[in-house]
Amino acid sequence: MVALVLWTVFRTLPASDKAIGVNALDGYAEETKSAMDNWNGWVGCKIFVSGDDVVIKSDDGDPCGDPWRPEDEWDHAATAYRCPNGSSEILISNPGNVNTQACIISHELGHILGRQHARVGAMANCLADEQNRLSVRDEDVAALKKEFCE
Ligand SMILES: [Zn+2]
Repeated sequence: MVALVLWTVFRTLPASDKAIGVNALDGYAEETKSAMDNWNGWVGCKIFVSGDDVVIKSDDGDPCGDPWRPEDEWDHAATAYRCPNGSSEILISNPGNVNTQACIISHELGHILGRQHARVGAMANCLADEQNRLSVRDEDVAALKKEFCE
């Protein structure tokens, strides 16, 4: 267990040439960092870094463009939008506890990465009980590893 913790703390992930910059506003820094760390760890290189490609903030009712999420999205607590200038924004419309919020931001970042819904994990419904939120499908990892890390 100690070895696992030390390995996790000191492991340095290689940066992706195509890394996407994320900027959290309105007090969402901690849950956003957790969400970025989730994806970077799952895929094995730094997909998400600090920057301005994706802005995460409270829902101000004025999205920059069309949603990334499918039209049939379930009851959602946040939505990712594609802005006309090529950037994206994630608007948080129903803040929850920090762990749920980290899952929700992970989920929306997944949509920005082109990932679809899954039965379990971060691409499932973060508001559902009794599910493992700290995983994504192997096929998602494989596709993103190829796109971002190789
Ligand atoms: Zn979704």
